[in-house]
Amino acid sequence: MLNWDETEVIPPPLHDMNVGAQSQYAASPAHDEAHTLTGLEGIETNAGRVDVSAKRIINATADVNQLLPMKYTWAWEKYLAGCNNHWMPTEVSMQADIALWKGREGLTTDERAMIMRNLGFFATAESLVANNIVLAIYKQVTNPECRQYLLRQAFEEAVHTHTFQYIVESLGLAEGELFNMYREVPSITAKDAWALKYTKNLADGDFDTSTTEGAQDFMRDLVAFYVVFEGMWFYTGFAQILSLGRRNKMTGIAEQYQYIMRDESIHMNFGIDLINQIKIENPHLWTEPFKAEVSTMLREAAELEVAYARDTMPHGLLGLNAEMCAEYLHFIANRRCNQIGLAELFPGAGNPFPWMSEVIDLKKEKNFFETRVTDYQTGGALSW
Ligand code: FE
Ligand code: MN
Repeated sequence: MLNWDETEVIPPPLHDMNVGAQSQYAASPAHDEAHTLTGLEGIETNAGRVDVSAKRIINATADVNQLLPMKYTWAWEKYLAGCNNHWMPTEVSMQADIALWKGREGLTTDERAMIMRNLGFFATAESLVANNIVLAIYKQVTNPECRQYLLRQAFEEAVHTHTFQYIVESLGLAEGELFNMYREVPSITAKDAWALKYTKNLADGDFDTSTTEGAQDFMRDLVAFYVVFEGMWFYTGFAQILSLGRRNKMTGIAEQYQYIMRDESIHMNFGIDLINQIKIENPHLWTEPFKAEVSTMLREAAELEVAYARDTMPHGLLGLNAEMCAEYLHFIANRRCNQIGLAELFPGAGNPFPWMSEVIDLKKEKNFFETRVTDYQTGGALSW
């Protein structure tokens, strides 16, 4: 079922915690080389059938093409939830946004600047995330049910990029300005470059996760993209646009951001489950120095986001300013620390946007969206 309560830490099912079964897949004669299985190896005829306990997130020796028997039901459930949440940006009416954007009144100069920077960050962020899945993550994940989810996620990232194309087209925005912000706005470049280096480590053709160093590089990439990019940076971006939506401004974009946020909360929870399951299966990776390094990554990411928030909202808007965004980010970062088993980085950080939890909260979600659908009759085609 739909699970986008991002406050929830989903522990892996007990039957997954059989780290003691490692001896069963420690040495497979067919795969005695160090390289990770990709699925492109020759077909092994007359081989033994897949033993579910031999399935692993990384460095599996079990055939990566066999979805069944299934081990990680949490991955499959997220695949189903993603499919159940299917949406397309073009289903959302942009009429009110167009009228507001093209009108002279209704949006301040600061609000327009914030909207542009926000869209400019997301417009290319979605494809950076997609590239990471397709060019770096997928090959290293040696489990079919997790790959099934990654394929769904990759498509959702395409839908998200489509959303920004549709917004640009609807509002008549300068496409060159928006899609170049990641190269032209230093606070956006800094964030993207920070994450990109982790993808590049994996894209090296000889990269594999058979060594501790390689597996830790893979974990760093998961942290950079699932915990930081999708789990921290996106949330301040959502808060900015949803704050406008609550004031009845740019409600079409706000509705699209709600759909994106619903998708992203599943992406993030998948990444966190992935990280936690790798920790269970490879406890030697999660050393104290490595934990300290991950904490440092999250702290750096928080600093980059605060710089971006100042850049995006130099003067503050109604109900929203850079300091509030920073505090919200610290609050979110603490949650992410809890989810991956690290000490909170910003003890005592409060949530300056309590209404964000209402948007995210499953129980209130339906009412929230019913309001939206009533406001925009053409949006009534969406049934969820
Ligand atoms: Fe996305
Ligand atoms: Mn995503």
